[in-house]
Amino acid sequence: MSESTVQHTFLHVLVIDDSDDDALLNILALRREGFAVKHIRVDTGPALISALESSAWDVVLSDFSMPNFSAHEALAIYQSYQLNAPFIVVTGTIGEESAVAMMKAGVNDFVLKTHLKRLPGVVERELREAENRRAKKETEHALRISQERYELALRGANDGLWDWDIRADQVYFSPRWRDMLGIAADEVMESFPNCFYNMIHPDDVAHLQASLDQHLEHQSPHLETEHRIMHRDGQWRWMLVRGMAMFEESTGAPYRMAGSLTDITARKRTEEQLLYDALHDGLTGLANRALFTDFLGFALGHATRDDGYLCAVLCLNLERFRYINDSFGHPFGDHVLRVTGERLMHARRGGDVVARFGGDEFAVLLDNIRDVQDAVQITETMLTELEKPIAIEGHEIYPAARVGISLSDAGYTHPEEMIRDADTAMHRAKSHKAKTRTRIEIFDSAMHGMMLKALKMEHEIRRAIEAGEFRAYYQPIINLKTGRLCAFEALVRWVKPDGSIVSPLDFIPLSEELGLVNQIGQQMLIQATAQIGEWEKSFPGNKLKVSVNLSSKQFNQPDLIQQIDDAIAQAGITPDRLELELTESTLIEHEDTASTVAVLDALRGRGIQILLDDFGTGYSSLSYLHRFPTNFLKIDGSFVQRITQTERHRSGAVVRTIVVLGHSLGMSLVAEGVETIEQLATLRGMNCDFAQGYLFAKPLPADEATRLIACNPVW
Ligand code: C2E
Ligand code: CA
Ligand code: CA
Repeated sequence: MSESTVQHTFLHVLVIDDSDDDALLNILALRREGFAVKHIRVDTGPALISALESSAWDVVLSDFSMPNFSAHEALAIYQSYQLNAPFIVVTGTIGEESAVAMMKAGVNDFVLKTHLKRLPGVVERELREAENRRAKKETEHALRISQERYELALRGANDGLWDWDIRADQVYFSPRWRDMLGIAADEVMESFPNCFYNMIHPDDVAHLQASLDQHLEHQSPHLETEHRIMHRDGQWRWMLVRGMAMFEESTGAPYRMAGSLTDITARKRTEEQLLYDALHDGLTGLANRALFTDFLGFALGHATRDDGYLCAVLCLNLERFRYINDSFGHPFGDHVLRVTGERLMHARRGGDVVARFGGDEFAVLLDNIRDVQDAVQITETMLTELEKPIAIEGHEIYPAARVGISLSDAGYTHPEEMIRDADTAMHRAKSHKAKTRTRIEIFDSAMHGMMLKALKMEHEIRRAIEAGEFRAYYQPIINLKTGRLCAFEALVRWVKPDGSIVSPLDFIPLSEELGLVNQIGQQMLIQATAQIGEWEKSFPGNKLKVSVNLSSKQFNQPDLIQQIDDAIAQAGITPDRLELELTESTLIEHEDTASTVAVLDALRGRGIQILLDDFGTGYSSLSYLHRFPTNFLKIDGSFVQRITQTERHRSGAVVRTIVVLGHSLGMSLVAEGVETIEQLATLRGMNCDFAQGYLFAKPLPADEATRLIACNPVW
């Protein structure tokens, strides 16, 4: 025992014991160790209560059992006062179980009457513990107060402050608080909290109430909520309310609560804008892919719960959008996209969701439809709306679209899968020739079958590339002035090991989709250039040319020029013997007009001539195509075949016009698909330069083509 702490101050000891002697023995034990002790002895509940209420105690020593009282009862009373002094039981005998129970109940320690010598040590230690507890409590309290003060001060400058005296049910609002809500300083407000709740947005009241209750019931360290409050100007303001209650130590009941009010309207607007932007397409204001997928997720959830519910996804692509963009400029392209969005919104039914995924890709979620026919009918209505002309600078353009549809009854669990299938169907619809009327394709199990078939085919094509089964066939091109053979078009054939021949129409589109067309195309380049080299040797001086078809995918390869240079070098020929055929869609589809022109210039710079294939089938516009430098126009066979049929007059005029326009632009004309003498004569009469078709020869294997050259026929 350190002398200094006890010498000058008395230790106030409350002894609960039925025996005066026993009480004195305790005191003596303490005095013997240097404690200056003052004590009182009690042995009933009421006496204990009056002792606790009349003075402060440093330590309580209690007998375990007494005739009219017990340590249990004494402890219960003592604890209700929430005092800090240690409660020590001094007892003659005590079972282990009782001791444990008492410790659990909150007794600080036990001392046996037979070991009273231990008492001073125990008291000393327990006093020290009590002091620690008190200091800790005080620090916590101080910390809480200062934290509150700090927070209030921090926000006080710009925030409104409020202070609610819960017991008196009065609330103080700072001038700034009133200011923030446009409440005049002299305005008398309704009683609290009604005055407050009345101003809060009805949708936010429940949340605020719940947060407040939670805090007042000790379930959250502080109150923090965001809600809308009506400003006196009639506008909603987003406010952040923070506050903290103070609780009575004994009962835990809140008696005061104070806090701040911060205007977060600007922040909320930004957040809302950001959220909106994240889920919408900036150009059209339609939902974007993310939001659409979300909606579709809900719809699919609905479909799994309710067997009778059916929904559909439409994937819609505009046709020739790139052409519109390039010819009329991006602002007009944007205009077309916006109009498309508006028209889809106009044609949709309540509950349908219209979205733009990017570019000219749109999607529609048809909610709650009856069946496939229903979906098709709604789609047709949309397309009718969509295909009304759009006026621009005196021109009218006629938008057209292709649509793929997938239906929820295929049992989708992921929205992305359903979108993917609608997209697959849309690509099928797009792959139909421009002339066909089927603008709508429905994804069905047959398409699954086709996908499987395509998968098998892919494997087959890869194998065939390895095995070199793709062979160039050669179809002669005739100079109409001389009637002699002047070139060949190289056309690919898949010659299978069993000798059967597969048409390019059956594998080129898939190969393009799979990216395999580049390898096939490269093999064609190598074969064709090598063939030129052989004919050069066999027929020296006969400067026959060979034209090779390039698919759009091939044209986009960054190393295309290198491949061509390599093939030419390998064959040991001059570049001017090679020609390349490109379709107008290849030129139009390519993103970057400038780089397309650069590639064409690079080819022509080497002396390689360019033929524009299938002219007349696409969106043929000479004024548009003029920007792409080509040497030849190949007039599509479908025109050529009609010039001598019933439509003779009109088709004839079209071909004649193409010839005249082509010539005036410095191009030569090649007529494809010439099958009859009549057609040949008409074309000659129109001053067409070259012709190709079954009339002269079908595409021939290399050896047959060689024999034909040797014959040197004249037509
Ligand atoms: P294309 O480039 O327009 O080729 C002309 C097609 O018309 C060829 O069909 C040819 O056999 C056919 N044809 C020629 N004369 C006549 C005629 O008098 N009447 C009729 N009705 N048809 C005639 P083919 O060889 O089946 O090729 C079809 C298409 O496949 C080609 O159309 C071309 O787009 C593509 N293709 C063919 N070979 C290749 C190739 O090596 N690479 C790439 N990328 N595509 C190729
Ligand atoms: Ca061709
Ligand atoms: Ca052609």
